[in-house]
Amino acid sequence: MPQYAEIIIDLLSNAVDRPFHYNIPPDMQGKLKPGMRVEVPLGHRLCQGYVLRLLRDTAVDSLKDIAAIIDPVPLLNAEQLALSHWLSMRCYCRLIDALHAMIPASFRKGRRPGEIRVVKPTELAAEADLSRAPVQQKTLDILKQRGSLPRPELIRLGASSQAVSSLEKKGLVSIEAVQPGQQEDEEKETVEHPTTRPHLLREEQAACFEQIRAVLERPKPEKMLLHGITASGKTEIYLQSIAYCLEQGRRAMILVPEIALTPQMIEHFEGRFPGRVAVLHSRLSVAEKNRQWQMILSGRARVVLGARSAVFAPLEKIGLIIIDEEHETTYKQEEAPRYHARDVAWWRTRYNRATLLLGSATPSLESYYEALEGDAVLLKMKERVTPIQLPPVTVVDMRQELKARHRLIFSRLLLKELNGVVERDEQALLFINRRGFAGFVLCRECGHVVRCPSCDVSMTLHMDRQIMCCHYCARETSVPATCPGCRGTKIRYFSAGTQRVEDEVKKLYPSVPLIRMDRDTTADRHAHSRYYRQFRERKAKILIGTQMIAKGFDFPDVTLVGVVAADTTLNLPDFRAPERTFQLLTQVAGRTARGPRGGKVIVQTYHPRHHSIVTAAEHDYLAFFESELETRRQLSYPPFSSLLRFLFSGPDEEAVFEAAAWLTDRLGPAVGEAEILGPAPASLYRIKEQYRVHTILKGQDLPRLAPGIRKIIREYHQRKMPRPVRLAVDFNPQVVL
Ligand code: ADP
Ligand code: ZN
Repeated sequence: MPQYAEIIIDLLSNAVDRPFHYNIPPDMQGKLKPGMRVEVPLGHRLCQGYVLRLLRDTAVDSLKDIAAIIDPVPLLNAEQLALSHWLSMRCYCRLIDALHAMIPASFRKGRRPGEIRVVKPTELAAEADLSRAPVQQKTLDILKQRGSLPRPELIRLGASSQAVSSLEKKGLVSIEAVQPGQQEDEEKETVEHPTTRPHLLREEQAACFEQIRAVLERPKPEKMLLHGITASGKTEIYLQSIAYCLEQGRRAMILVPEIALTPQMIEHFEGRFPGRVAVLHSRLSVAEKNRQWQMILSGRARVVLGARSAVFAPLEKIGLIIIDEEHETTYKQEEAPRYHARDVAWWRTRYNRATLLLGSATPSLESYYEALEGDAVLLKMKERVTPIQLPPVTVVDMRQELKARHRLIFSRLLLKELNGVVERDEQALLFINRRGFAGFVLCRECGHVVRCPSCDVSMTLHMDRQIMCCHYCARETSVPATCPGCRGTKIRYFSAGTQRVEDEVKKLYPSVPLIRMDRDTTADRHAHSRYYRQFRERKAKILIGTQMIAKGFDFPDVTLVGVVAADTTLNLPDFRAPERTFQLLTQVAGRTARGPRGGKVIVQTYHPRHHSIVTAAEHDYLAFFESELETRRQLSYPPFSSLLRFLFSGPDEEAVFEAAAWLTDRLGPAVGEAEILGPAPASLYRIKEQYRVHTILKGQDLPRLAPGIRKIIREYHQRKMPRPVRLAVDFNPQVVL
């Protein structure tokens, strides 16, 4: 019998980021299992810890005893333990961060979700003398009468919580945690959604579905990419594939971007699989989350529908994982563990010999490339199910507006169309990029933007020092007095935000009701659905917003979508800026032409010939993919390499640079062929009093270098630092700002 346990201490500290060995005292032997939480002494205090493995042998001597077992049954299963290991390696995070990702924060302390503690009298109970403890006596009497009882019920019958604990300490009762059976489930009222029946698949859909079915039948892990334009009926494919997976006796998971997890979406799934869907997202109350988890743990949930973190749900016998809108940045977690749900899903797919189905109208370059390389099965749907046509997109060249002495932020065409919408009593959406980031300099006559010759990202103006700086490689140049493109003199700092657009619209149409949606106006959690309702009820005619209105806002009366400044996205100093622009424009275009009145899209830009804009206007994904892939190949950005970003931040500017230099110096000898960019100030150089500096490692085979890199990171954390500098390591960052 194993006598030792390998334990990870539940403290978010680099000092304890390694397994510790403890003795299993005799009374715990046989009871202790991997995945349980325990209490262990560390220094002079007791800490919570997770049992990773049981050991028959250890090289460490004078071990301390485990003090107590917290979970009577393991909180984490074998798959989750294995996944945590992989996650901590992949994401360069502490193992405890990885373990925490598996469990919602509200369950990490204390009892596991939904579990019932049953109190039972022991053999000693018969001879117990409790004459001096009447409450304990009464408690024991109830138990002797009834055999055993769930703890809450025992307390309802007159026992006190203290009495139960005292009895347990005296060994007169035992407390066992059991998974609630059906009886508890039945108490709950399940919300009834109208059940829906599968649609008869159309030809294209049927062809895709056949392929998915064939793959689902094979017990071999496989990745598939469903590239289908908006309204081509992808959701129906998901539903039928899940139904098939369930028929085979396996379970399915579907991930959607948080913002797309609307009541309608939930209805879709509950309607098709009534009573068998667990829904997980960040707006659930603790009690509701508890209930959903319990559904999964008890095996009653056959389908898990959720946002990013649902990828860790303890669903067993997984046969199919679906990621809808797989290109979305929200699938990447921006704090430790900095994982991408797609990578985690693929790991679980392999572990379970399941199928991973990625779906999108604008697949990420990485996924589409993988499909072309034969590492994923490519499925295509090019027709819309509904008879509605994709809307015509007109690109307006803002340079021409200036030439015509038209200086408003709305072009003449957009103004004309807006007037029409107001007159005909229709609705319009106006988009601006989320980040009010305007560090780039633009020539208003020719649209020229100064870019770094080696990194191909826009260079950022620093007014204080009067220089332009590349925020990837730290190259600096002087600010041009005349435009390097056309010798013109109208070089400007570019700016356009939702606030400014709102002011302009108010000036133009003082009596037209409007709504503005951005991070400032939607701070409270009901704001999003409130605005949604108001706009649907036509209480406003014009909706001004950021990316957050690019999804799920499907209104038949929206006949005009205006993209006020495509350039803000296009010129973000991030190598994915063109890809984001293409995705955003495609998505935005899908917000109109949804009703009988049709609709149009107007895109304003200083770069009317840029491939992101031209191909988005023509609804041509493949053309975009091919030209963008070429750029990535030339500069060997992903998918032709992987990136590893080291982000240093702290309140002391000098200390941050010093820390970055320290680590970067050590990387050199450890990374061989891989290219080191920086240290350079990050584009968002100062956030909340914190200075941000980064070093980016770019290479073909970073996983091979990982052990060496990890060693440097460990040394970094052990180093004495007079002033604190935080280090965040991000493998394949999605946003490099
Ligand atoms: P996507 O997810 O590709 O954007 P949806 O799955 O939302 O598209 O489909 C668009 C609409 O078409 C939905 O209202 C859906 O119910 C409907 N639909 C999908 N497939 C069929 C079908 N085979 N027959 C009839 N309607 C369908
Ligand atoms: Zn550069």
